[in-house]
Amino acid sequence: MFETDVVIIGAGPAGSICGYLLKKGGKDCVLVDFASFPREKICGGGLTPKAYELLQELMPDLRYDYQGVGHFRLMMDGKTLCEVDLAKELRMVRRMDFDNALLGQYTAAGGELVKDVFSHFEKQPDGRILVTLKSGNSMLCKYLVGADGANSRVRKQLTGQRRDTTLWMERYMEKGANEFIFEFSNRYRNGYFFSFPGIEKDAVGMGGFYASPEEIRNELSLNTIRDVTAGNASPLYGANIPLDTMKSRERNVILIGDAGGFANKLTYEGLYYAIATGRNASIALLSGKDFAQTNRRIFLKKKKETVITRFVYSRLGLWLMKKGAHYPKLIKKAFEMFY
Ligand SMILES: Cc1cc2nc3c(=O)[nH]c(=O)nc-3n(C[C@H](O)[C@H](O)[C@H](O)COP(=O)(O)OP(=O)(O)OC[C@H]3O[C@@H](n4cnc5c(N)ncnc54)[C@H](O)[C@@H]3O)c2cc1C
Repeated sequence: MFETDVVIIGAGPAGSICGYLLKKGGKDCVLVDFASFPREKICGGGLTPKAYELLQELMPDLRYDYQGVGHFRLMMDGKTLCEVDLAKELRMVRRMDFDNALLGQYTAAGGELVKDVFSHFEKQPDGRILVTLKSGNSMLCKYLVGADGANSRVRKQLTGQRRDTTLWMERYMEKGANEFIFEFSNRYRNGYFFSFPGIEKDAVGMGGFYASPEEIRNELSLNTIRDVTAGNASPLYGANIPLDTMKSRERNVILIGDAGGFANKLTYEGLYYAIATGRNASIALLSGKDFAQTNRRIFLKKKKETVITRFVYSRLGLWLMKKGAHYPKLIKKAFEMFY
């Protein structure tokens, strides 16, 4: 039986950052992921300034390729409302390479990655946790961290099915202008159409509270901003962004990143929250404090986001956005506040 202090399921940004900081802090831990790295992850790959600045602070030696983008176009129902140059650019990364670079930092710090599928966990009489993997192997640990993304099995075992999950679809296209496009409409369900410039290709798609890929396909077929039906575009790929933030009832089982439903409820930015909750989990585990305490500010922020989101995506909220676009400085301020 393999024994360690912490088992982390999932070697995406949340898991790798948490593992790296634990190793740096002298804590024994193991990362488990079923994927062979480098692996793909469906994502626009946009790192906001607060995300890359935090990353720089946590992993000063990390190097990764990115495309800087500082121009954004706000649209509604196919028409441009305003264009804004941002004070700080966003960095667009290829998730495959970016996630591999993060994982590389963890392994360079002496971290071990086990390739296996998490199956389930059982609490032992002495309070420790027995983690069973699909291979039949098991691990005994003091803490279990669920960093296993949108379809987290660790979370499923804690709460059953997820609620409040949004569906997103995107395809990768020939590069267009070096600008972000966000398009809103009363038709869309708490979501938006986006075009994100990437290093080699642009990611173009949309999402929100859609029940099936068909609904998004239909909406995309009506969109004229970018020709998403172009023959040279990749197939449409879909993935969930869960928004049901959850505090684990078990003190020694922690959920971070998408597993904990931490993505921004308004903008759907997930990378910053994966990094920040990974850091907060490592602080809890190194200091012996509760994750509820070290992650308190983020839990509070999620409550505020719920209220703001309800308003922004309402008819009144979108109408005000349209009016506000006559004052691009205001839009710039709002954008920079959320990003
Ligand atoms: C279309 C789309 C566009 C997006 N664009 C952006 C964007 O531009 N900017 C942004 O900030 N966010 C964006 N997001 C959100 C972002 O991708 C996620 O929030 C982020 O990937 C969460 O990181 P994570 O480490 O929590 O999970 P993940 O990156 O999903 O990593 C989870 C890991 O767990 C592993 N795993 C899962 N189950 C198991 C298991 N049972 N056993 C072992 N391993 C397992 C997986 O293989 C994976 O490596 C986007 C999401 C989508 C769907």
